[in-house]
Amino acid sequence: MFKKVLVANRGEIATRIIRALKELEIKSVAIYSVEDRDSLFVKKADEAYMVGTGPLDGYLNIQHIVDLALKVGAEAIHPGYGFLSENPAFAETCEKRGIKFIGPPSNVIRLLGDKIEARKLARKVGIPVVPGTDEPVKNVNEALSFAKEFGYPVMIKAAAGGGGRGLRVVSNDEELREQFENAQNEARKFFKDDRIFLEKYIENPHHIEFQILADRYGNVIHLLERDCSIQRRHQKVIEIAPSLILTPQIREEMGEKAKELARAVGYENAGTVEFLVDKDLNYYFIEMNTRIQVEHPVTEMVTGIDLVKQQILIADGVPLTIKQEEVDFRGYAIEIRINGEDPKNNFAPSSGVVTRYYSPGGIGVRIDGTIYRGFKVSPYYDSMLSKLIVCAPTWGEAVSRARRALSEYMISGIKTNIPFALNIVKHPDFRAGRFDTSFIDSHPELMDYTEYKDPADIVAAISVAIAAYEGI
Ligand code: ADP
Repeated sequence: MFKKVLVANRGEIATRIIRALKELEIKSVAIYSVEDRDSLFVKKADEAYMVGTGPLDGYLNIQHIVDLALKVGAEAIHPGYGFLSENPAFAETCEKRGIKFIGPPSNVIRLLGDKIEARKLARKVGIPVVPGTDEPVKNVNEALSFAKEFGYPVMIKAAAGGGGRGLRVVSNDEELREQFENAQNEARKFFKDDRIFLEKYIENPHHIEFQILADRYGNVIHLLERDCSIQRRHQKVIEIAPSLILTPQIREEMGEKAKELARAVGYENAGTVEFLVDKDLNYYFIEMNTRIQVEHPVTEMVTGIDLVKQQILIADGVPLTIKQEEVDFRGYAIEIRINGEDPKNNFAPSSGVVTRYYSPGGIGVRIDGTIYRGFKVSPYYDSMLSKLIVCAPTWGEAVSRARRALSEYMISGIKTNIPFALNIVKHPDFRAGRFDTSFIDSHPELMDYTEYKDPADIVAAISVAIAAYEGI
């Protein structure tokens, strides 16, 4: 078993990984930026090293991270999500320098990170893909003729895209002409790869993804699905497990297809096969993510399987002992991403010092977070502060629990999406399971809430005003 593992990430996922390492009695090594020096993950790790000079460079410096891992005697690196987690050069450097990368082999990351290649592979193994172009679209004329053949609306996608970036929906020739070059430029800028392709836009689908675990001995299982349809700007906000719409038969079929894809590339470790599912339950592959997902806890809560521990064990060469027929779900789980942002100001990120922090608790409530009272939320990172996960035996109870837990959650000093998320879980359509990826856009009433004003903040503001008035 590994004795020491370096965590090449920050925030809640770094904390999550350190917790798994502690339970496995493996020493944890954190890296952190100067901006993150007071973060919980730094305090929780057995060893912690400051890296880089700015808020981001240290988390992205492949050579430095691998050098450090070797220097401190770490045998493996867990990349978390984001940052270098899907960077094949990072995995390759680890491979070359004898450090185990906790994820799939670098060639698999490279192949699946290319959405065009991933689509080809899916088709080869008999998985339906969204109708789209097989090769990168070189110019606007090619794009226009695709749209003519398949009909609008059409989605423009970056081959190397991720995180909802580089996606554009266009509804006519004019918009396509207008957006084509923008999409190419954006792809070049953000992903250093200007290849784009087109897909038919599936109207009001569900986003349903299957969790895969695969070991190096050819054992592959899936841990059922998550429904991540509650999205804003193609980014997930609330995720649930299991889906409320799949029939047992389609679940079984999609799970088997996801496993076939994993087998076809020689997949190892945890991965996620993402699909869109339309109202007639036709499903279409969109991409495979080669890392742990933000929303992994909902799968953990319903299956009872610790995914991060499984990742570490698989990387260490321990054969998978869980059999497909043993995997089942108990009840329902809902995850709500708690972001430092102001929904009423177009969801602009909100940073500053957390002046009050009360986290929810009680039966069926889990918080994977990284903040506390006095913590300074930095403007340099992703706005996600924590994840609230609830589980319960039935969907109805899970929704009530989400509502109860969100009402208990209090974060002052910065703006959060808590009241907005509360409106989602209170919405009768959400409770009735009537939602798809258009839910947030089609329910503007979700913005109707009055912000909670913390009395402590009001008193503090009054004291500041009095002090200013009195000139003290
Ligand atoms: P990313 O890698 O940036 O997350 P994805 O390809 O996974 O991008 O898509 C993100 C989201 O965008 C999906 O969950 C879905 O809501 C929407 N989406 C992607 N492709 C399509 C499509 N062809 N039709 C309709 N919606 C789509």
